[in-house]
Amino acid sequence: HNDFLDITTFISSQAHRGTVAFIDGSTGRQLTYAQLWRAVRSVASSLSDMGIRKGHVVLLLSPNSIFFPVVCLAVMSLGAIITTTNPLNTTGEIAKQIADSKPVLAFTTRQLISKLGGSTTDLSIVLIDDDEIKAPNHGNGKIVSTLGEMMVKKERHGSSNGGLNLKEEINQDDTATLLYSSGTTGASKGVVSSHKNLIAMVRVVLSRFNLDDGEERFLCTVPMFHIYGLAAFATGLLASGSTIVVLSKFEMHDMLWAIQKHRVSYLPLVPPILVALINAADQIKAKYDLSSLRRVLSGGAPLSREVIEGFVEKYPTVTILQGYGLTESTGVGASTDNLEESRRYGTAGLLSASMEAKIVDPDSGKALAVNQTGELWLTGPTIMKEYFSNAEATAATLDAQGWLRTGDLCYIDEDGFIFVVDRLKELIKYKGYQVPPAELEALLLTHPQIVDAAVIPFPDDKVGQYPMAYVVRKAGSNLSEKDVMEFVGKQVAPYKKIRRVAFIASVPKNPSGKILRKDLIQLATSSSSSKL
Ligand code: ATP
Repeated sequence: HNDFLDITTFISSQAHRGTVAFIDGSTGRQLTYAQLWRAVRSVASSLSDMGIRKGHVVLLLSPNSIFFPVVCLAVMSLGAIITTTNPLNTTGEIAKQIADSKPVLAFTTRQLISKLGGSTTDLSIVLIDDDEIKAPNHGNGKIVSTLGEMMVKKERHGSSNGGLNLKEEINQDDTATLLYSSGTTGASKGVVSSHKNLIAMVRVVLSRFNLDDGEERFLCTVPMFHIYGLAAFATGLLASGSTIVVLSKFEMHDMLWAIQKHRVSYLPLVPPILVALINAADQIKAKYDLSSLRRVLSGGAPLSREVIEGFVEKYPTVTILQGYGLTESTGVGASTDNLEESRRYGTAGLLSASMEAKIVDPDSGKALAVNQTGELWLTGPTIMKEYFSNAEATAATLDAQGWLRTGDLCYIDEDGFIFVVDRLKELIKYKGYQVPPAELEALLLTHPQIVDAAVIPFPDDKVGQYPMAYVVRKAGSNLSEKDVMEFVGKQVAPYKKIRRVAFIASVPKNPSGKILRKDLIQLATSSSSSKL
């Protein structure tokens, strides 16, 4: 198994070449496995002709598409490094990432190209979605080719290593991806993952998704620029020969229509979409045939008891599963395998194959026992190499033995199930106490008139911080601030009480389903100071 030195050779050797790899969920355009790997080889060959070498960084700024994996795989097959970015990022945010990662080439779409304008580097650009011959220079960047051109280019002969046109030998420890973490809890950092990390991750994906029958059809609506989509769809599932229907982004109607049309059986999602599926279940079931759907995987953020039970009630023939992971662990961590496991409410599941875990007291650094809450540390073959040019952050996150501090406050029960209590960095510090906002959010969601909620620290001179709740009320509800505070106050220790409430139309969340607490904290503090 360890014969493979690079991720692309590993997954291409497993592909069932006759079947369809990708279907564009909107246009119906398809790529078979044979076409996919031919495209990867052609693009790799063109990149090599352009001078892309092992160790070079190539940026990919694109929504999901059936060509997203082609670009990733072509770059990695040369030993070059792929870095992705969220298409919703601003020009300034992208310029920062470019300054940090120093790509020599960028792939992007005509629609997104202006977002590269903030960069001061003279970046060469390849257009993904455009078959037109070279367009004129744009901004600071220069369009040098189109993906269409690169894909039709004749393959070179005499290549080794699974037919891929490798210029230089790749070692397992060479870097393959440079993904920037979402930055929900601080500045975004570049996570450096090796070919070894990706190969180990693919093995976990293959075991986790239970692909014995080979009949599974997946729908990709989670972002491929994020480790969730990249691990599952741009690499992991390709090793199984599965068919993947790709949507450029999440849109409820498009998703339901694609499930019906392409008989999708397996649907990886993030919690906010599950909530939307539950809330509109009756209309959805009247309008769409979802009978092909067997499994829904939820990952990226915690899943509450209400959502699990709501989903089971509305979609009794679909099994809801949980997956937990970080960019820093190449998406690997824990998962549940069946409904009974998912119903251990609050659990992220059992530790993934090949990984080890321990719970550590964040203050003393001592390992804790079963059912005791502390920081989850993980080790194993999927743990990142380091943060990109950030020795300080690396030293604070990885220890000399290769343990990763996840930053998640967890406990592990007697059966080995991992429970995520909250993120350490998000704990609210009220007087000497630490209040986990996720616990209060879960409690708020049990109120029949509350649709969604987010709890944030509100700065206060006397107590440090106190919990404030942003609440989304059910349509027509006249729930008051006081009602909310009393509802929570009756059920928690006094130091956890919510001491301020505001109502909003929706809770801001990022593409992996996490609450954007930073935005809410800014909203809370700016609106309170404007009142003074
Ligand atoms: P940054 O570290 O820059 O703030 P980020 O942590 O948002 O970015 P990700 O790698 O996307 O970057 O997120 C990993 C985190 O997501 C985990 O540490 C955990 O807190 C949370 N998470 C992922 N899956 C689950 C899950 N199933 N249940 C609960 N939390 C989850």
